[in-house]
Amino acid sequence: MSTWARLVAEALPVPERAPGPVERWSVRPGEVGAQVAGHEVSLIRPVAEEKDWDRVCAALASQPVFRGPSLDGRLPVESERVFAVVGLPLVPPGWDPLAASCTCAQWSSVCGHLGALVAELGARAEADPFVLVRWAGGDKAAFTARVSAAAAQQNGGGSPEAAQEEAAQEDVADPASAAVFWSAPELPALPQGLAEAGVRVQAAAPGPLLDELPVFDRRT
Ligand SMILES: [Zn+2]
Repeated sequence: MSTWARLVAEALPVPERAPGPVERWSVRPGEVGAQVAGHEVSLIRPVAEEKDWDRVCAALASQPVFRGPSLDGRLPVESERVFAVVGLPLVPPGWDPLAASCTCAQWSSVCGHLGALVAELGARAEADPFVLVRWAGGDKAAFTARVSAAAAQQNGGGSPEAAQEEAAQEDVADPASAAVFWSAPELPALPQGLAEAGVRVQAAAPGPLLDELPVFDRRT
């Protein structure tokens, strides 16, 4: 099983890491930054829009293996699949979508200071994945509230509290159950006409989107 730190390290490979402490670490919507060996380093990523958060929270709420942990303020590493599928990866898929900066003179490649920042990001994300949510422009309390509201809506309009209660009663706390979910046997072949369902799902209003997920899965 992967970890958030490993996802970060694999997505953002660095040739070296400057020795010494990472100081003045900060994360805010769109940017993580720190001071490494006297240099100011920063990583800027695109932030997600409201509708993106609605979509991913609806998707998480539609799956018991993620609904319970999400309502409980936890993010199993397996949930990154859901974020990525709805187009809001918490871990950026490589350096391309990022703007990296450092005050050192090494312009040609990722410097050791950025390497140290990436390593720090991985460690922080491992301790609290909501660091990644904040970097992507989200907020833990708002995130949990959105999942709760989506769960209530999917339950037929019941109160968020009722949805939370129901989720809490389900056996969803075991992270292994999420792994089982994602390693489920491949589904039967899709009928003709669903090949472009991914586009439709991405454009759809919030709802039980994860029903559509296997379609994405087969496309990647
Ligand atoms: Zn540097």
